[in-house]
Amino acid sequence: MTTEETIEPAMSRNRFNCPTCGRLADQAWFNAYLSRINNPEGVPLRIQGADLQRLAENPQFPPDVREQKVDYWNKVNSGALFIDRWAPIQSDLFAAGMEFSACHECMAVGVWIGGKLIHPAAD
Ligand SMILES: [Zn+2]
Repeated sequence: MTTEETIEPAMSRNRFNCPTCGRLADQAWFNAYLSRINNPEGVPLRIQGADLQRLAENPQFPPDVREQKVDYWNKVNSGALFIDRWAPIQSDLFAAGMEFSACHECMAVGVWIGGKLIHPAAD
């Protein structure tokens, strides 16, 4: 049983109970800048199924790197939303009306549209 207070998530706050892990935690806010998907297919990349199995066995990568990549794709394929690093981008395209909150405890990301938390969905 906890004696900690409960603070509902809101755009006016930078500390509230995380909608993912439930802990009372500092939340960092982010804007949504857009980077066009730039691969030959022009659609989002997903590695799963037989392709993920091939990646897991690819001798080009050391075992720890393979494990890291497989963990990443398993997380993405499960629908998890989290902060990660990729190549730096330069963009002035902006998703107006959309923001992200990120929990300092679990690093999960909340998606806010129109001032309302839409992911993760409330129970
Ligand atoms: Zn959290």
